[in-house]
Amino acid sequence: TVKGNYLNRMGRYDAGMKKKMEDDQVLLSEVQRALDNREFIFYAQPQCNMLTGKIIGLESLVRWNHPVRGIVQPGEFIPLLESNGFITNLDLYVWDMVCGKLHDWIAAGHKPIPIAVNVSRIDIYSMNVTNTFAELTSRYEIDPALLAIEITESAYAEDYNLIRQVVIDLRNAGFTVFMDDFGSGYSSLNMLKDVNVDVIKIDTKFLDMNEYSQNRGMGILETIVRMARLTQLRVIAEGVEKKEQVDFLRNVGCIYGQGYYYYRPMPIEQFEPLLLHEENVDYRGIQAHQLEE
Ligand code: C2E
Ligand code: MG
Ligand code: MG
Ligand code: MG
Repeated sequence: TVKGNYLNRMGRYDAGMKKKMEDDQVLLSEVQRALDNREFIFYAQPQCNMLTGKIIGLESLVRWNHPVRGIVQPGEFIPLLESNGFITNLDLYVWDMVCGKLHDWIAAGHKPIPIAVNVSRIDIYSMNVTNTFAELTSRYEIDPALLAIEITESAYAEDYNLIRQVVIDLRNAGFTVFMDDFGSGYSSLNMLKDVNVDVIKIDTKFLDMNEYSQNRGMGILETIVRMARLTQLRVIAEGVEKKEQVDFLRNVGCIYGQGYYYYRPMPIEQFEPLLLHEENVDYRGIQAHQLEE
């Protein structure tokens, strides 16, 4: 009967929900244990000047180095940690590791290169992130200009006034602010004139090389780049995988890119030999372009 089917479905649904909640509970207690055991690490992925191929900065991307499962990607645990607020514990841990790394480079006499960290909107509700980053950079004795703060576009749309103020505070304190995943949500170009970030990272979806969507995506991308230049914004294209994408981006005046075409994210130790050779790095970072204009 209709009613029977309905109850059946509900029954399965409830069982599914219950299972999911139990799984989440297990995962959460594992995450707590993993934090205590220092199983979280960060991978780094270079951000490049596509005209010269030089590295202008790195992005830190968290990984769970699980004793049994091996390297676990953030997509498998971040959504849960965001839904219960635990993400903030993890992010504090990651930011601390990143600042520690910058400190170690300087202490060893190397020229440091800027590192971008990801900030969840939950972090912004839970604490004064500007104070947190200021404490970290002062404790590790590093220049705030070495830290770029990536805040995903959707956060701006949801908490416009709060985030706008946070961006102002972060920049006043000397940090660089990136708007991550630009174009992934419902933001409009209009938002860019009111939210005063240093850099927008254009979402991968505009680089999608598919027939119909390609032409439109490329057209929009070209418009974003042009508008960004007019408003003094720097632009990094995310998810650059192919030579054709690099060529297109350079043609429309997008100078910076990040993606598998250049480097995959990897343990920072694997990059260190590269970073220690000054000819691979443009230490002027993302400001170089501005200096040349
Ligand atoms: P995101 O910040 O937008 O980072 C870019 C993602 O694109 C990374 O995925 C990176 O590995 C991937 N990627 C880079 N180049 C390419 C490419 O050429 N092709 C493709 N297909 N993908 C590319 P990942 O490392 O899995 O991270 C996913 C998301 O998880 C990040 O997106 C960020 O939102 C979040 N995340 C990562 N680390 C942290 C963290 O420490 N804290 C917080 N709160 N979120 C983080
Ligand atoms: Mg990011
Ligand atoms: Mg992104
Ligand atoms: Mg993303």
